Amino acid sequence: MTALPSHLELVQGVVLPKPVGAHPVLDFVNTRSEWTTRGPARTEWLTSYEAFLIWNSYAGLLSPATTFRLIEQAGSSPTEAVRRLQATLGFRVDLYDVLTGQATESTFDAAARLIEKAAARRRLVQTEDGPVWELPEDLALPLYNLALLAGDLLTGPSREHVRTCPSCGWLFLDPRGRRRWCSMATCGNRAKVRAHAARTR
Ligand SMILES: [Zn+2]
Repeated sequence: MTALPSHLELVQGVVLPKPVGAHPVLDFVNTRSEWTTRGPARTEWLTSYEAFLIWNSYAGLLSPATTFRLIEQAGSSPTEAVRRLQATLGFRVDLYDVLTGQATESTFDAAARLIEKAAARRRLVQTEDGPVWELPEDLALPLYNLALLAGDLLTGPSREHVRTCPSCGWLFLDPRGRRRWCSMATCGNRAKVRAHAARTR
């Protein structure tokens, strides 16, 4: 068996990129390769609704128990699962454009309406640790949960610290203004190799 590149990880049988965004919403956006094009990515990591669920669990957004129950639900409603995945991939494109300031009015509207829909589905429930916002546990949960987090990111102080990797277009938080690349292991290293090649030419 060949070893995976160091920026990828095998999680429950699914290959996923290791988080580099320092924010789950940015890592969600980074689940496809090279945002330098809007066409199909060379590598798409959200290849199925189940892969999307496993990514949520890996990112700490869904508990293992909820992930397990939703994988079962998806198995008995495959058509809805496919529809949810398509909605997720559509939101990911819109959100990328909103986060990078490239959104048209209709792109912004599409992302905003989804975030509002997610907010309308929340219920305030009492738990042992006090009241918390909760979304119904159904196949819409992972996308709506991400939409709520995206709404918080867009309207909060972290928005100013979102940076774009100049090589691949991935997003990451850079509150101290020190990062240039999404990851030194991939884009940073490639840039170093290019610079070295240019120097020794
Ligand atoms: Zn990069």
